[in-house]
Amino acid sequence: MSALPSVSGKNRAVGAGTYDVVVVGAGFAGMYMLHRLRGFGLSARVYEQGSDVGGTWYWNRYPGARCDVESMQYSYSFSNELQQDWEWSERYAPQPEILKYANHVADRFDLRKDIQLDTRVDRAAFDEEANTWSVTTSDGNTVVAKYVVLATGCLSNARMPDIKGLAGFKGKVYHTGHWPHEPVDFTGLRVGVIGTGSSAIQSVPVIAEQASHLTVFQRTANFSIPARNAALTPEERDSFRSNYPELRRVAREETKNGILQELPDRGALDDGDNERRVKYEARWSRGGLTFMSVYNNLAIDKAANDTAANFVRGKIAEIVRDPGTAKLLQPNNHPIGTKRICIDTDYFATFNRPNVTLVDIKSDPIEEITANEVRTGARDYKVDALVLATGFDAMTGSVARIDIRGRNGQTLNQKWAEGPKTYLGVMSAGFPNLFIITGPGSPSVLSNMMVSIEQHVDWIADCVSYLRDRDLVSIEAKKDAEEKWVAHVNEVAQTTLYPQANSWYMGANIPGKPQIFMPYIGGVAVYRQICNDVAAKGYEGFAMTAAEHPRAAAAS
Ligand code: NAP
Repeated sequence: MSALPSVSGKNRAVGAGTYDVVVVGAGFAGMYMLHRLRGFGLSARVYEQGSDVGGTWYWNRYPGARCDVESMQYSYSFSNELQQDWEWSERYAPQPEILKYANHVADRFDLRKDIQLDTRVDRAAFDEEANTWSVTTSDGNTVVAKYVVLATGCLSNARMPDIKGLAGFKGKVYHTGHWPHEPVDFTGLRVGVIGTGSSAIQSVPVIAEQASHLTVFQRTANFSIPARNAALTPEERDSFRSNYPELRRVAREETKNGILQELPDRGALDDGDNERRVKYEARWSRGGLTFMSVYNNLAIDKAANDTAANFVRGKIAEIVRDPGTAKLLQPNNHPIGTKRICIDTDYFATFNRPNVTLVDIKSDPIEEITANEVRTGARDYKVDALVLATGFDAMTGSVARIDIRGRNGQTLNQKWAEGPKTYLGVMSAGFPNLFIITGPGSPSVLSNMMVSIEQHVDWIADCVSYLRDRDLVSIEAKKDAEEKWVAHVNEVAQTTLYPQANSWYMGANIPGKPQIFMPYIGGVAVYRQICNDVAAKGYEGFAMTAAEHPRAAAAS
């Protein structure tokens, strides 16, 4: 393939099928990436496999779906007009409202003309001579781009459980991460929900109100904190709006997870029993994810963590009337917070309803699904519909579905066979000009995704602009920088309790997936500083190639 003419910014005529940047995915990451690239006068094409924008909020339409980060914070900060104008209705926005917001952003910033919907990216191959990517989509087209940005989302690859007989089930089967667009009515039906992660914990109380009977099949109990969701008052909205610049700055620069919270000045064992209980009660009453930040050592000290875990176990015992059911619902195989903590509305209380049954499939596993039953070793449960809340091939799953070929034809899947390897989570050595948004090795899923998305997009946009301004045709993570970063990500993870849980953070929910702690646990503030420093030092740890020396790019 011959080299593309060098990209010269605003006035460049874009030939059919050639772009400066191809962006994969039109969720919040892909849309903002497009907006930033346009701001530099770069041409970009976004491919989205869904029939509309919104990413995770397009697919996850299950009953009760809403964000577990507060709406005033789970929103873009890049446009002050946008954040001043948009009216979030509730403390935690429901999925339809977030999807409406995504659509509003697409229209407001005129993004749709560069987004091709209903189109999957199947293949991307790097041309080492031209320093370009050749991108093949599900409609059979191939386009050429200088850069590819994977804005594919971390929880986009819904995972169907491998349960014998599932295909022969005669009723309807729904996956929470791939919910139909038409309304689903469970009225009068016997429904089975398999799984008890965040998606189940949100949907179970809503499904229980409709179903004639709901059977919840639980393998692992999860910690959940009440959301305390409520309508936002005009005063609450205004207090954010009038302080947005500072609040956004604090979230980015002073927190670990991009969520506003008081920073604890002590560990759990520095307080006596009564004082601790009062603090946990206050956080429980307030609700939400900040429960875990009441003390500064819950993620690193098991004895401290036990105090929080015991408090929540106690709450479950208070709420759930049947002691046997309460005991089953009390998590006991991982420290609190080491699996993504759940946020619920009446989840535990739902098990007090006469039409809800909890089945412990850890002690009595599902053996098979027949035409109209879920069959465990001990008994058969008749169901008319099944809801699979069985999660995702997280962080790497949606990237792994694309046949990505870098230098020497190596695929990203081959390179990541023993676990994802990236430098700063944004690039992987051997794959020049390929960026990943909120990829493994970045804070990503441990943070408010909006904060992490904006930071990555801004960093990538600045990087692409830097390259263009200097007539550089490629950038690539150096192997040694990548190795050091991977070691650092692991080292930081090992100082915490997180690796003690068989979580999707570790890849433990996918049989055969390498078990490596994937996100960077150092926090968004620290991470942002590292990324900024790397850029300020002329992209330290990255190899760059000038236009006239296209072959000198081999990573050291
Ligand atoms: P998840 O946390 O991975 O939970 C999957 C559940 O399915 C687990 O209880 C798992 O049990 C069970 N499971 C998986 N395979 C099974 C099998 N073959 N047989 C029986 N049980 C099986 O998935 P999720 O609930 O969809 O949540 C994933 C992530 O999405 C969350 O952690 C969160 O980050 C995000 N999310 C966010 C929100 C929000 O913002 N409000 C809502 C939903 C999801 P084991 O634990 O034993 O494997």
